Amino acid sequence: MAHDLNTPYEYPFEAASEAEIKFGDGAIEGRPAGVPSSYEEGGSARWSPDAIAEVHALAQLGRYQVRGYNSFNKQLPTFDDLTFVPATMTRLPLEGYRESCDTTTILGGGRGLVEKPMELKIPIYIASMSFGALSASAKAALGFGASKVGTMTCTGEGGMLEEEREASQRLLYQMSPARYGVDLDHLRRADALEIVVGQGAKPGTGGLLLGMKVSERVSRMRTLPQGVDQRSTIRHPDFLGADDMAVKIEELRIATNYKVPIFIKMGATRPRYDVAIAAKAGADVIVVDGAEGGTGASPEMLLNHTGIPTMSAIRAAREALDECGMTGKVSLVAAGGIRSGVDAAKCLALGADAVMIGNAAMMALGCNSPRYLADYEALGTAPGACHHCHTGRCPVGVATQDPELEKRMNPHAGAERVARYLTAMTMEITALAKACGKSSVHNLEVEDLRALSFQASAFTGVKMAGIDRAFDW
Ligand code: SF4
Repeated sequence: MAHDLNTPYEYPFEAASEAEIKFGDGAIEGRPAGVPSSYEEGGSARWSPDAIAEVHALAQLGRYQVRGYNSFNKQLPTFDDLTFVPATMTRLPLEGYRESCDTTTILGGGRGLVEKPMELKIPIYIASMSFGALSASAKAALGFGASKVGTMTCTGEGGMLEEEREASQRLLYQMSPARYGVDLDHLRRADALEIVVGQGAKPGTGGLLLGMKVSERVSRMRTLPQGVDQRSTIRHPDFLGADDMAVKIEELRIATNYKVPIFIKMGATRPRYDVAIAAKAGADVIVVDGAEGGTGASPEMLLNHTGIPTMSAIRAAREALDECGMTGKVSLVAAGGIRSGVDAAKCLALGADAVMIGNAAMMALGCNSPRYLADYEALGTAPGACHHCHTGRCPVGVATQDPELEKRMNPHAGAERVARYLTAMTMEITALAKACGKSSVHNLEVEDLRALSFQASAFTGVKMAGIDRAFDW
């Protein structure tokens, strides 16, 4: 008998109970602790314990899994695939302990259009993470910490939090396609504006904030119902392409009286073309966020299977700016998976003018620190392995809206740790730059790097170590 495809299918038998559908009481997420990998077992590489656990989870849930943090895709390269080749005979190093290396970073001044380009004392700033994803105390701590070392933080989507504005000497105000919390007064109180067209953790999709984190205050700021999952739009209502985007940028310039630079942030997918379009549309600064970028919540398959690595995105973006004649006019910021000053220095050498850090800044606040162990355990995880930002039950008070958990986040202690971390990162960058003979961190260049793997060389065009030739297609 032919089925009517427009009628929902009903089982011709009594449906199974939820208890029968479950595979027992095991954790849904990932391979159970202690189960060795397929390599250790000598089992199937394709049907690894992880892959089987994933099928079981999907079969139980009937939907994709959601989690926070960043990609677990092991195929993504790390910055450890690149190494510096400091000055030896062909170049002269600077004296590491006696000569200085400038770290001043100016973003958005290249077109000569804005009165106050963003001047940072270091080439690192704090990435866009919303109030909602993070607690108010965490946001304030990031602002204080960034201010202490002369750099910037970013509101993220969801509006400008008063505590963050007060804490931040330099604040980048983000406008997402969903327009959550967008306010003309806040826009004029910002030191720079950012139009979001995507993010590295989940390019092509909007933000996700689960209902557990949509508190009364978050709901008020975003004009959304409390306790209900918030799924942001991704397609901007104000523009469909470069021509409309140029109009939008001009509107923002007029609204801010040509005072502050306009950033465009994108997830790294086709940066060679996307960056060219954003530059053509008039952006002062372009932020390219690689697939290693983190998030508060996302469908896990998007985290693991979308976007391109940060290192390849930087090279493609820089080449796009070079090809358009926009190097020097449009600043390039890189993000996604940056863990240290060493990673940041590699990004600068690959062609970024600055980097922004998200997950690493959260860790400096206390994310995954070994405290409140019982609460990690209650989430089914442990310090060092937590990726449960989506639950709102953050053991250390960073990614929560629960007032009791938030008390664990001391904004002043957190700020000090963030400031020290940023200072240490900057010391690492300058130490490497001086070893390479540079009196400014912005003089780092691709020639200062060599690739330790074919993959990294192919992704970036960086010469292979020793043979001094890039992987040749
Ligand atoms: S400790 Fe908190 S911020 Fe860190 S991953 Fe876990 S839930 Fe997220």
